[in-house]
Amino acid sequence: MRDSLSGLKERALRELASVGSTQELREFQLRFLGKKGELKAVLRGMGKLPPEERPTVGRMANQIKELLERAIEEKEALLRQREEKERLASEGIDVTLPGRGPEMGGVHPITRVLREIEDVFVSMGFQVAEGPEIETDYYNFEALNIPSHHPARDMQDTFYLLEGLLLRTHTSPVQIRVMERFSPPIRIIAPGKVYRRDADISHTPMFHQVEGLLVDEVSTFSDLKGVLERFASRTFGPRTLVRFRPSYFPFTEPSAEMDIGCVICGGKGCRVCKGSGWVEILGCGMVDPAVFSFVNYDSSRYRGFAFGLGVERIAMLKYDIDDIRLFFENDLRFLKQFL
Ligand SMILES: [Zn+2]
Repeated sequence: MRDSLSGLKERALRELASVGSTQELREFQLRFLGKKGELKAVLRGMGKLPPEERPTVGRMANQIKELLERAIEEKEALLRQREEKERLASEGIDVTLPGRGPEMGGVHPITRVLREIEDVFVSMGFQVAEGPEIETDYYNFEALNIPSHHPARDMQDTFYLLEGLLLRTHTSPVQIRVMERFSPPIRIIAPGKVYRRDADISHTPMFHQVEGLLVDEVSTFSDLKGVLERFASRTFGPRTLVRFRPSYFPFTEPSAEMDIGCVICGGKGCRVCKGSGWVEILGCGMVDPAVFSFVNYDSSRYRGFAFGLGVERIAMLKYDIDDIRLFFENDLRFLKQFL
């Protein structure tokens, strides 16, 4: 019995030396000193001893127990100290690491192109004017010489709202609002969102337009051409070719569409220009005297010109983008190319 007790002591001390963590230490304590531990197992054999030997063996068992308890305490203090040190080391801040910069956002390509267009016209003396996106029938159609049964209304699939209101189909209503408030000379551009019931590879229900209006006593179609040629060369490069084709709009007379030489193929013919070497970029014309009569301008004295262009179309040509929907899907891989 004494042999097995001292054997137990030797073994326990040897194993304790190799315990490496407080978790292992708890397991060790249970195994040797717990209720079902090895010391208790040995002591259960005490009943078989002669009565005179029991006190000596009991004392010996108690000494081993105290010895192990003390050894465990010391070991625990040591382990805790070491683990605390390791924890501090792993949680510490390495001040030599390089900093992580903030993620920078960027301007959306449409906003970027819109600002470039604004800059071109502002540099020619135009002011930026704005108006509401929810319009009345009067400002969106009537006052622009598009009466209720005019076939031109079919050209624009309108989103109608309640009580004669609608989402503007162009930024032209801003012309009327400006002319109602100010007398000539007027030189404005009206950038903004417009809405039409249309959605495919080159149309989205919401897109951006820039409308331009100049009214004074002397301007001619040549002035209009000069302004728009300047716009084309500033936007697409100084060698950009332009041509004007007769067209029709209810609020201008005469009216024209302006094409530029295809910026993708340089005029040789490609899918963008459908082989023609030319792409249409805007509509324009001299303001129809009928429009002046809605805002009480004297059409025998005043004359002017107007133009309207789609910002997405300009951006698509500028960056060779073949699907307008890419602008609004908010795929960061696409948008990051414009940062
Ligand atoms: Zn082309």
